[in-house]
Amino acid sequence: MSVEQQSPAPSPVPSPAPSPAPSPAERVSTPVDGVDVLGALSPSRAGDFMTCPLLYRFRTVDKLPEPYSADAVRGTVVHKVLEELFDLPAPERTPEQARGMLVPAWEQLLADAPEVAQIHGPDAGYDAWLRSCEAVLERYFTLEDPTRLEPAERELYVETLLDSKLLLRGFVDRIDIAPDGAIRVVDYKTGRSPGEFFEGKALFQMKFYALVVWRLRGRIPAMLQLVYLGNGEMLRYVPDEADLLATERKVEAIWRAIRHAEESGDWRPNPGRLCDWCAHQAICPAYGGTPPPLPEREPAAAEPAALPQ
Ligand code: SF4
Repeated sequence: MSVEQQSPAPSPVPSPAPSPAPSPAERVSTPVDGVDVLGALSPSRAGDFMTCPLLYRFRTVDKLPEPYSADAVRGTVVHKVLEELFDLPAPERTPEQARGMLVPAWEQLLADAPEVAQIHGPDAGYDAWLRSCEAVLERYFTLEDPTRLEPAERELYVETLLDSKLLLRGFVDRIDIAPDGAIRVVDYKTGRSPGEFFEGKALFQMKFYALVVWRLRGRIPAMLQLVYLGNGEMLRYVPDEADLLATERKVEAIWRAIRHAEESGDWRPNPGRLCDWCAHQAICPAYGGTPPPLPEREPAAAEPAALPQ
């Protein structure tokens, strides 16, 4: 288990959640032997670049460490419980069972990554944090009834190669398939639902996944569903072919912009409200800081395998 970037923002503003560990998509390599892959991109990395090209650089090119945050770790633990809840027989998927799975999920994470202990102070913090996890988890049961659901997939790694040879990849929290074959893509967010201004960003991630699922399964998902456990709201969207083709064009445009920044070395800061959650303010020119020198670029021949996602 690793800490994921699940944007568990403590406020209605989605946070560029810290990335103390690589996202799972970065750990799952793609067999690209024999295929001339242009590069690889996940929704998280695309989102970073759209938020702030310099943030993308710090995270993906410089690979600068970021501190663990209580919100991000809560997101990881709650996701783990929601994934494993569906291992239980349907009648046993109760709030009590889920609550009882929290501490084992935390302990497993602690065993895998002892550094996460830093989110709590030496004498305090754990109990309040655990209660916040319980509150988030309980809210899940006000939104869905897991005893009536049988997900087709959970924490599914997906990837697809576009005609342009750009590899799209990432993890989908849950896929449900109806008896008629209709696909629903579900993503849990432990933060609050975004305001109107940020809704498009949240939906971009879902359309990205919908595009990958469409390419993989030959069927456009009938529903994209974002489950916001921070305030108990659900965001649903029905994508169509035009939507997903537009998403494909957008993803390719983002990739071209990333490549342009790589070649020119011009990674511009884009200050905004999300800077409050950025771990790199001290070295950001927008805040009077100086970024470190860019790392040496990989030789061209090695580029596909080394390209940031
Ligand atoms: S502080 Fe703001 S502008 Fe600077 S790198 Fe972070 S997100 Fe970008």
